[in-house]
Amino acid sequence: MKILIVDDEMVPRRVLEKQLSNWGHEVLVAKDGAEALHLFHDQQVKMVITDWVMPGLDGPQLCAEIRKAEADSDNPAFIILLTSKNSSEDLAHGMESGANDFITKPFERLELQARMRNGDCILQLQAELLRKKEEADHLARTDALTQLMNRRAMLDVMRLDEDRMRRERRPLGMVMIDIDKFKNVNDTYGHAIGDLVLQETSKCFAQTIRGGDYVGRWGGEEFLIALPGADIIQCAEVAERCRNRIAALRFPLQDGSVLSVTASFGTASAEGVDRAELLELVNQADKALYWAKDSGRNRVKIYVASADTENTSRS
Ligand code: GH3
Ligand code: MG
Ligand code: MG
Repeated sequence: MKILIVDDEMVPRRVLEKQLSNWGHEVLVAKDGAEALHLFHDQQVKMVITDWVMPGLDGPQLCAEIRKAEADSDNPAFIILLTSKNSSEDLAHGMESGANDFITKPFERLELQARMRNGDCILQLQAELLRKKEEADHLARTDALTQLMNRRAMLDVMRLDEDRMRRERRPLGMVMIDIDKFKNVNDTYGHAIGDLVLQETSKCFAQTIRGGDYVGRWGGEEFLIALPGADIIQCAEVAERCRNRIAALRFPLQDGSVLSVTASFGTASAEGVDRAELLELVNQADKALYWAKDSGRNRVKIYVASADTENTSRS
């Protein structure tokens, strides 16, 4: 473990350094609070053992500064105050300033070891909890079948990009995709083949889009690509490339036949002062997708406001 020890007196500092090194730890040494804080920021220190009385920043002040610096951390350092102070008031004050534990000087080897083991245990639990939280976050945002972002994750990222594009006065493009006659695939070849089609189709999007663009699974056999900065023509080009890729997929079946699928695409892009809000934009791409389905499937349609009867009749 990487441990930072802080003491302004050389002898106890050396004794502690030697002891911790003998136990196999990597030891960083600071002669006062300011130097300790500097090392703490610079290095990945998880355990700090600090003296109380030091010139400048003392032990409790150092604890408080460390806690301030890692206020947002899910895995804060474990801090032990090592001091000749030994009253209950001192202990309470030390813990209140942010220390996790308190040992009186001169330290007993066995006691220090036991308390450090306890600290290590807490650090490991914190790290495990953090890992589980990140894993749960990832699962909550990822579609299990395709490993693409799910609708919730997609909306979160798109909201950020919409704000960014608005500020930069650049368009935000959308491509809504729906696999054609997918119910037939399930009904004819079974759900497992349907799932495989969804997985392979997902790869086509990932292979087609550029860095900065992203794709999510919007619903069952519906996908959405977001293209920050792309105008409607660029959206249509990406959609057309995806359409060709999907149509070129081949799924060999057990009976020797080969299955292929197609998909329909609707694109929309928002720019300028009167730009559509995010959900309105998604809605426009969805409408264009509907037009693609309506005019025969396996094609790309662009959203045009004047062609939108709902829009026209409203205005
Ligand atoms: P259209 O060309 O009009 O889009 O016809 P469609 O058959 O693709 O559309 P419909 O909405 O009638 O059917 C979608 C099907 O997608 C029905 C549903 O069972 C299937 N589906 C949704 N999610 C999954 C999934 O995760 N796996 C599989 N295998 N099928 C799914
Ligand atoms: Mg469909
Ligand atoms: Mg559908």
